[in-house]
Amino acid sequence: MAVASLTLDLTALAANWRALDRLSATGVQTAGVVKADGYGLGVQAVVRCLARAGARRFFVAAAEEGQLARQALGAGPQINVLSGHMAGDAALIRDCDLTPMLNSVDQITRHLETLPGHAFGVQLDTGMNRLGMEPAEWEAAAPFVLEAGPELLMSHLACADDPLHPMNAAQLANFHAMTDGTNVPRSLSATGGILLGPAYHFDLTRPGIGLYGGQPFGAAQPVVALSLPVIQTRRVAAGETVGYSATWTAPQPSLIATVQGGYADGIIRSLSGRATLWAGDVPCPVVGRVSMDMITVDVTHLPHVPDALDLIGAHQTLDHLAEVAGTIGYEILTRLAARLDRRFIESPE
Ligand SMILES: *Cc1c(COP(=O)(O)O)cnc(C)c1O
Repeated sequence: MAVASLTLDLTALAANWRALDRLSATGVQTAGVVKADGYGLGVQAVVRCLARAGARRFFVAAAEEGQLARQALGAGPQINVLSGHMAGDAALIRDCDLTPMLNSVDQITRHLETLPGHAFGVQLDTGMNRLGMEPAEWEAAAPFVLEAGPELLMSHLACADDPLHPMNAAQLANFHAMTDGTNVPRSLSATGGILLGPAYHFDLTRPGIGLYGGQPFGAAQPVVALSLPVIQTRRVAAGETVGYSATWTAPQPSLIATVQGGYADGIIRSLSGRATLWAGDVPCPVVGRVSMDMITVDVTHLPHVPDALDLIGAHQTLDHLAEVAGTIGYEILTRLAARLDRRFIESPE
């Protein structure tokens, strides 16, 4: 096998959805956020799996992503577009039966003019200042927008991964002030908000990262494993250097394994000289720079060099790796390259 293999555990994905679903009351719907190609895993496999687990609504970033999700799901499940109704998207929204989450008066006007009667939701800004209508804008527009029958009002929390952050309660209060009495279904929480408790759940939750096994959902089952095949091993003498810019010098005679997988696979270059790969239960340090397609690893201490070394697995979770790289699990996942050999596994239930 010439490319690194990315094993995606669909049983764990479904279990994570069910676990997040159980965290809210019975009347609360749990959607699945599948933007960015299902957080890098492959959107079509992800939506099919989540639909089998019971998800009836999905969120994507753009209408084009919604088209792929619709192809995999067929008619029925709702697909919401977070960027709303962008110019030129009317045909896609209509033909793929997408539900745009409208973000501004411009988008609302565009939607009601080009697709009158077509389902839509509204996104409100409660403090994150990224997407959605501001309180004053909403107050002015609400009477005619509510008349047009939005099927969801939503907002997004900026700091939900930190339960003690005062922004959470402030945004919650703003959301109530903007939506109480509208009698329209409401949604405020992604993974982090679900964990803040029932006051944040409203009618629908929108977990993403927790489904894929990432923090802040500490109880998540791991979904992703990444294993890099060993291409060759070589002995280097004390004083020889390894890799680009000769950043690592062998302190003693060493055995170096060159494994397939580099920054073009999403193994970001800042892991150079810092990451650890695992030979079963034995840690092996990365030495030298991560290059485009390869990484060099010190395996001097191994009695036997296996066919592949693990970068994400039992001993190093997605979030551990992200921490070493100075980033978050979301970024590691969504950078995983298309060329990786994605193997979907599903254990019989
Ligand atoms: C990405 C996103 C989500 C999912 O967030 P997670 O932290 O991955 O659970 C939910 N809602 C909106 C608006 C988003 O942009």
